[in-house]
Amino acid sequence: MMATLVWLRRDLRLDDNPALTVAAAHGPVAPIFVWAPDEEEPWAPGAASRWWLHQSLSALSAELEAADAPLRLACGPSAEALLAECRRTGARRVVWNRLPEPHLQGRDEAVAHALASAGIETAAFDACTLWRPGSIRNGSGNGFQVFTPFWRAAAAIPVVEPLPRPARLRGVEGDGGGMPPAGLGLLPAVDWAAEMRRAWQPGEAGALEALDAFAAGPVARYAADRDFPALPGVSRLAPHLHFGEVSARRVWHALCQGPPQGAPSEPFLRQLAWREFAHDLLAHHPKTDTEPLRSEFARFPWRSDPEALRRWQCGRTGYPIVDAGMRELWATGWMHNRVRMIAASFLVKDLLIPWQEGARWFWDTLVDADLANNTMGWQWVAGCGADAAPYFRVFNPVLQGARFDPTGAYVRRWAPELAGLPDRALHAPWEAPADVLRAAGVELGRSVPRPMVDHSQARQEALAAYAQVAAGR
Ligand SMILES: Cc1cc2nc3c(=O)[nH]c(=O)nc-3n(C[C@H](O)[C@H](O)[C@H](O)COP(=O)(O)OP(=O)(O)OC[C@H]3O[C@@H](n4cnc5c(N)ncnc54)[C@H](O)[C@@H]3O)c2cc1C
Repeated sequence: MMATLVWLRRDLRLDDNPALTVAAAHGPVAPIFVWAPDEEEPWAPGAASRWWLHQSLSALSAELEAADAPLRLACGPSAEALLAECRRTGARRVVWNRLPEPHLQGRDEAVAHALASAGIETAAFDACTLWRPGSIRNGSGNGFQVFTPFWRAAAAIPVVEPLPRPARLRGVEGDGGGMPPAGLGLLPAVDWAAEMRRAWQPGEAGALEALDAFAAGPVARYAADRDFPALPGVSRLAPHLHFGEVSARRVWHALCQGPPQGAPSEPFLRQLAWREFAHDLLAHHPKTDTEPLRSEFARFPWRSDPEALRRWQCGRTGYPIVDAGMRELWATGWMHNRVRMIAASFLVKDLLIPWQEGARWFWDTLVDADLANNTMGWQWVAGCGADAAPYFRVFNPVLQGARFDPTGAYVRRWAPELAGLPDRALHAPWEAPADVLRAAGVELGRSVPRPMVDHSQARQEALAAYAQVAAGR
């Protein structure tokens, strides 16, 4: 029987994988992953994503080897690698699951065309999102720009039941060997990933474990705990979802047995639907990865300040909650959502540095870097996107810290040089009396940076800059 090639991309799982299931139903399967970062420009995976991808491919390789359908790894161009693999295995059909990002659609079309020219059949499936991006429309047939009506419309559409993993896979006879994941060169030359290895278990087994652990407890307290970065209140599923180690449909059905609205897990399902909203927005507005959705923001008087950007990136702004967040990101490739909002707000509103600079840094350092979610998150914070926080709502990093990290456990973990301060002084050490600082071993300007800007003054400058945009000047 002729083999079917399964072109895996960001669907690195056996469960709920329509391309794999269809291929397995037709006979032998030849799974292949092609590393072709040039084809993904300007959004080739960043350094943290590459680290994750290496681990995820290693896990999937082992899984597919054990299932008797070894994974082939190749380097791009994709069309050439797939054609070569068809020749090697005798496959006459290639199947894959679609990627949602608009800038990647052209590649799929070109690959389908090249394969068809060689007489090879192709088929593509939906497996990344709950609902097809761009398919949820309002009464006038347009996409939504506000989340709540999007959620109302989407929640009324049943989510497709996930497929079980194929009962049996059969690889191409005598196949095996091939390039190991290390051959793709995804790992950094200098090993900076020790903390990431401790924090994560990339791969399908790790994803399902994270889902089970979340379903067994934290989901019930999600609404109350999700804003407190020191609590284990969120699922940490984002990188697993991004790389497709678990499908959004599997997550949805694991946590939602009846109608989503009014379900105990609704607060979490709503959040999962923000991911859908982000993909929907990007499908309707493909240029928003670099351009503000609200076009008047193209005139915003941003500043270019490489030194200030560097201090933010390194977690040396002098604002403890911002610095703790930026260091959590650097060490683990992830930052809690509440802290992402505070740190992002500090960059765009306190420093007036363009949101695109922050989005680029997150793209390189997040293990869950995702074009749709990252774009929406940054535009939301900057006030220039859909359903955005109004520009004049400027997060106060001291008040946010005191409110969402009241015991200081989060700041003490990621900014240990402040650990000896009493709770009341932790989020604004520059206001603490000299004897309190001395007792805690804190030397302002030496062991701990002084705040790089005065927040209330920076807020006034941000509001003035915004007024300029609003007045169309
Ligand atoms: C400036 C900024 C940048 C961001 N960049 C990214 C990014 O690159 N990739 C990314 O996945 N998320 C991004 N987010 C959204 C959010 O911070 C993360 O999805 C979340 O922190 C991931 O942790 P979790 O899996 O524990 O989330 P949970 O709270 O457990 O939520 C479950 C899932 O729902 C989705 N989700 C939750 N909140 C959001 C949201 N606000 N927007 C979109 N989807 C959401 C994610 O897929 C998440 O994994 C960004 C947010 C901000 C403010």
